[in-house]
Amino acid sequence: MENDRLIRYYELLEQLLTTMNDTDDFTLDKLNVSLAELCKLFRVSKGVTEFYKSTSNEKSGRGEVFVCYDSGEGGREVMGRRIVTKSMAVAKCRVYMPADAEPLTDEEREKIDLILKTVLSFVGNNKLQKMVERLTFYDDSGYRNLRSFMRYIEQLNEKKRLGTHTAAYFNLRRFSQINQEIGRNAGDMVMRSYFTMLEEVIGDDGIVCRVGGDNFVAAFDDSLLIDVLEILKGVPVTYDASSQKRVTVSASTGIFRIPDGFVYEDPGDIMDKILASTKVAKNNESENIVFFDDKSVAVNERLADLHRLFPQALENDEFKVYYQPKTDIQAEEIIGAEALCRWEHKGEVIMPAEFIPILEQSSDICRLDFFVLERVCQDIRRRIDEGKPVVRVSVNLSRKHIMDADLSDHILEVVDRNRVPHELIEIELTESANDVEFKEIKRIVSELQQDGICTSVDDFGIGQFSLNLIRDIPWNVLKLDRSLLPSDTDNPHSTRSVMFKYLVAMAKELGLECIAEGVETENQVNMLRSNSCSLAQGYYFDKPLPNTEFEKRLDK
Ligand code: C2E
Ligand code: CA
Ligand code: CA
Repeated sequence: MENDRLIRYYELLEQLLTTMNDTDDFTLDKLNVSLAELCKLFRVSKGVTEFYKSTSNEKSGRGEVFVCYDSGEGGREVMGRRIVTKSMAVAKCRVYMPADAEPLTDEEREKIDLILKTVLSFVGNNKLQKMVERLTFYDDSGYRNLRSFMRYIEQLNEKKRLGTHTAAYFNLRRFSQINQEIGRNAGDMVMRSYFTMLEEVIGDDGIVCRVGGDNFVAAFDDSLLIDVLEILKGVPVTYDASSQKRVTVSASTGIFRIPDGFVYEDPGDIMDKILASTKVAKNNESENIVFFDDKSVAVNERLADLHRLFPQALENDEFKVYYQPKTDIQAEEIIGAEALCRWEHKGEVIMPAEFIPILEQSSDICRLDFFVLERVCQDIRRRIDEGKPVVRVSVNLSRKHIMDADLSDHILEVVDRNRVPHELIEIELTESANDVEFKEIKRIVSELQQDGICTSVDDFGIGQFSLNLIRDIPWNVLKLDRSLLPSDTDNPHSTRSVMFKYLVAMAKELGLECIAEGVETENQVNMLRSNSCSLAQGYYFDKPLPNTEFEKRLDK
């Protein structure tokens, strides 16, 4: 090669290497410019570099063009080079010359070959780096993963910008139920759409990542908090565009608004905070979103402690059955009672509102419910043996029991072993709008009914109740929830008063016994009287009483 061209060649080669090594400012355009110059220098009409993720992708032609120079003169392939990386990815380069061009000399071929090798190794590395990045920072379904989140937090920390950000951990509410109802594929689609909604709101001012299952984390600029919360509190998500089918998706969320000047030892510190708040949110039916403060961590630790202490506590007899009388307001006498559980632990009385939700996260609740049933049967048996008056006692059974195919046999076993007449036991269950559960409840209630054990719909009025569902199951008792009961300030024409009246009448018509829960004042008792609801339970008459006190009341 003559001197001038040789010098030009080295200049261009240097430019090419500089472009490739300039990690901060590298662009494909710059690379293309260098390569185009080189092509012209060697009479090359076209140079194409391709990348395939695997050799099988190469066979089927599923690759991508990385750089390409094309003078438009056409031509035939004169040289090529191909490398296969350790991970079986393929980088390939082909060089074309016009048919009438002077053929390449050996020296020229050597020089071109050097360029090809340089470009290929660059393409291989660069693409590989991206692939490694994908594997490292994304999960199999293409969601950013926990490592992405941690890296983002580290970057914010380095730029000292943590203080203007909010971190969140969230778990989709009842997502397994959504999956069950609409199918797994549609469920995946719902999750994807929900995720995309959040990504769109957050844009470049933060990050959303999936950490496994239906759990996610996010970090974003404080200014976006309201918009993000809007989505987390619950939004309809379309999963079948053609028929516009939608489900509402919401999330149990823990939020940490990172304070100015926040210092951490490890990015995991932020994770711990949002995780702790999420656990509190999950245990709370009414509040989806919990902001981190040190208190929520304390609550959380306490819940974990209670869960851990449960088995031992059950053995140590720390659970006590209290009885809340049910009163016939006409006759002014106790006609029954509800068994309610208390946990007496180291001199402290723990209320069910605190421990029932944790026990319901596992089948521990079932052990507790059967313990209560057992105690109730023993107490009744003892009174019968002592020749004292007894009343019917209701026992709460958690929804968790519904999946027990032999539930009614298990109940009967306890009742019969204690030789308790069936009519003295009542089982309280809550209603359900879910089809599967509904069928099971219907089966259980029917079986119990056949054996002469009463059943009641507990907390009626809290859910989206449907009298149709009530009518389809042979319940004995309707327990009207406290929230339906008109308060002293309600006038007789208020929606609540009218609704209450209507429900009492409906229950009667359906042949159900009807009892009002949470009766606290004399006015309420009068209101019950005027609506012919003759049964009541509430603080006005009695609080839940320890067994000894309850028995004294019965003896009177
Ligand atoms: P629930 O079944 O609706 O029980 C009635 C709750 O209302 C009881 O709370 C009772 O103390 C309270 N209450 C009664 N009268 C009044 C009133 O006049 N005013 C007000 N404000 N409240 C009143 P408690 O004993 O704290 O139980 C709370 C819930 O815990 C129960 O609600 C029930 O769902 C659950 N629970 C209690 N014991 C058991 C159990 O052994 N097994 C199961 N599965 N759940 C239980
Ligand atoms: Ca109850
Ligand atoms: Ca209730």
